[in-house]
Amino acid sequence: MIWRTRRDSLNQLDQDIRDHMDRETEDNIARGMAPDAAYAAALTGLALGVKVSTAPLALIVLVDGVSARLVPLLADGAGEAVTLEGEVHGRHRQGGWHLLAQSRYQRHIQEQRGHHFDAFAAALTELVDELGVERIVLAGSPRAVAVFRSHLDRRIGRMVAGAIAGAAHEPVDVLVERVIELLDRRRAEEEVAEVQEAVVEAAKGGAATAGVEATLDAAARGAVRRLYLLKTFHEDGRRCSVCGAIQPGGSGDCRVCGGDTQPLELGEALVERVVATGGSVDMVEEPWLGRVEGVAALLRYPV
Ligand SMILES: [Zn+2]
Repeated sequence: MIWRTRRDSLNQLDQDIRDHMDRETEDNIARGMAPDAAYAAALTGLALGVKVSTAPLALIVLVDGVSARLVPLLADGAGEAVTLEGEVHGRHRQGGWHLLAQSRYQRHIQEQRGHHFDAFAAALTELVDELGVERIVLAGSPRAVAVFRSHLDRRIGRMVAGAIAGAAHEPVDVLVERVIELLDRRRAEEEVAEVQEAVVEAAKGGAATAGVEATLDAAARGAVRRLYLLKTFHEDGRRCSVCGAIQPGGSGDCRVCGGDTQPLELGEALVERVVATGGSVDMVEEPWLGRVEGVAALLRYPV
C-alpha cells in the first residue's frame, strides 16, 4: 500500500515536472528564445531551483510603413524574430485615376501608416513590459524611425538607446552586429559621463575622489562604491607588513608607521581592496582619466 502510494506520488511528481518544464519552455519561447535554448534554460532553472532570467539585453525593432520586425537580443545572440504586419488596402492603381484620386489614395495610405505605427507602438509597450526589456534599438530608414519614435509614449521613448539603419531584406545577423556596436558606443558614453561625474564631484569635495592619493585613502577606509581605473594604469606601490597601508612608491619604509613594506602594483592592490570592501570596479579606456592620474572613484560617503 505504502509502495503504491509512493509510486503514485512519484508519477505525480514526474507529471508536475513535465508540466513545469512545458510551461517554462513556452514562457522562454514567448520571450524570444529558440526552442532548444528555451528548453535548456527551463532545465537549468529547474536544476538550480530558480527561474533563469531571460530578459533580453535589448529589443530590436525594425520598422517600415507596413510592418514591424521585433528581434530580441539575448546574451548569446539574436532570439527568434517576430514580424507584426498590418494590412494596407488600396494598393491597386489601375483605372487611370487622375491626380485627385491619386492624392486621396496617398492620404489614405498615409493615414493607414499612421494607424499601423500606433498599433506597433501599443504592441511594443505591452511586449516590453512582459519581456522585462529595458533597452530598445530602432532600425529602419531614418524617416520610418523618426515617425515611429513620435508614436512612442515617453516611458518607452526613454528606453530607446538609439537607432541604426536597417532594411527588411537584411539578414538579422547584420542588424545585430550594428546594434551591438551601438550599445557598446552607448556604454562607453555612459562610462565617460560617470567618470566625469566622479571628477566633478571630487572637485566639489563631495562623495568622490580623483587621483591616486585620495582614492587610496578612500579605499583604505572601505568607502569606495565604484572605482574607475584606466585600463593602462600601472604604478609601483608598496604595502606595509605591519599596518597594511598601501602607498605609492615601490620601496621605502611605511610612511604611516615606519614598518617594512612589500612592493606591489598599485592598480591591482586598489582593485583588490575595493572589491574586498564590497565596491565595484570599472576598467575604462577613457583617456582623459589620465589627467587625474588614471584613477577616480564614487564613494559611499564623503571622506
Ligand atoms: Zn605601516
